[in-house]
Amino acid sequence: MIVIFAILTSYMSHSIFKILSLLTCLSLIACTQKPGEQKAQFFIFGTVLEVTIWGAGDAQAQQAFASLQSQFQEMHHQWHAWEPGPLTEINQAFASGLPAQASPSIVEMTRRSQLIEEQTGGRFNPAIGALVRLWGFHTSDYPIEGPPPGQVKIDALVARNPSSLDILLNGLTMTSTNPAVQLDFGGIAKGYAIDIACDTLKNLGIDNAIVNAGGDLRAFGSHGDRPWRIAIRDPGGGIIAALEAGQDEAIFTSGNYERFRQDNESRYPHILDPRTGWPVKDLASVTVITREGWLADAAATALIVAGLDDWVKVARALGLDQVLLVDEAGKAYLTEKMNQRVEFVAGVEKEIVIF
Ligand code: AMP
Ligand code: MG
Repeated sequence: MIVIFAILTSYMSHSIFKILSLLTCLSLIACTQKPGEQKAQFFIFGTVLEVTIWGAGDAQAQQAFASLQSQFQEMHHQWHAWEPGPLTEINQAFASGLPAQASPSIVEMTRRSQLIEEQTGGRFNPAIGALVRLWGFHTSDYPIEGPPPGQVKIDALVARNPSSLDILLNGLTMTSTNPAVQLDFGGIAKGYAIDIACDTLKNLGIDNAIVNAGGDLRAFGSHGDRPWRIAIRDPGGGIIAALEAGQDEAIFTSGNYERFRQDNESRYPHILDPRTGWPVKDLASVTVITREGWLADAAATALIVAGLDDWVKVARALGLDQVLLVDEAGKAYLTEKMNQRVEFVAGVEKEIVIF
């Protein structure tokens, strides 16, 4: 059985061709379904999210997919950084120096983001929404063409020093002491959404599933008598490595190869160093494995910013032990624990970093 859900309202600004090509692509995915598997696709935050369940009955899977559909729709509405909704209203209130009422999920994501911002020395910073917008990254249509914004505008936003730690939480009331704070959960929301989806599936009695947003995923249980098999994408195209997922694990990759601005001079990837206001280019991708999606997602973003010089320090501060980095030349750097479980394709140069 295959089910395709799409939050079509988010397509309003897209052409009919894009809708048709997406649906065609989804139908093709349906053909590869294996016995014992149930699959459904959803569209959230500009990404196709595929849920694969193993070993459940049709009725149970249908019920699970219907629950996920309404949850994803709600998360998309609640957390979207630029489609008008609860988060954009909160950002308007912050800009005007007013308190804002938030949903429990926004408060919780803010709390977790504050923790990561603190632990990463501000490399992960979800309060830089104004900078992300200035660079044109408030879009699902990549690549963006054109030169970078002017240095004066970048400097002006960086100088206002927005931080999620400027936000005071009091129950469901959020207040920012800094009007420059503009929340953008692009670096963590997918992970948190995947965690919530996995909890929903487990609560509905599903024992085996993968919730996968284009390679960012959480897997639990197994695929029958074998573990779930996971591929890690090569920033240069194709697959760089494969591994078997444990009983319940999140595997997230942040990269500079998919979402970027470009002009004749250069590519400007969508992850910004909050301290300079400029995109980071040191690493092509970072993959993190840990128990929960929100942490793996935010950590991968933070480690891209940390770069080759600082990633070990930041990974330690986050309590991570399974990290894989790929630099612009295609060389892999990885922790010992990651090395014990990944199998690289032929020809990848690797350096194991003692942790
Ligand atoms: P990801 O693909 O998970 O690495 O997240 C990238 C997205 O997070 C971007 O599209 C922005 O919305 C947002 N973002 C960019 N730079 C940062 C940063 N330094 N800290 C937190 N979020 C960021
Ligand atoms: Mg992330």
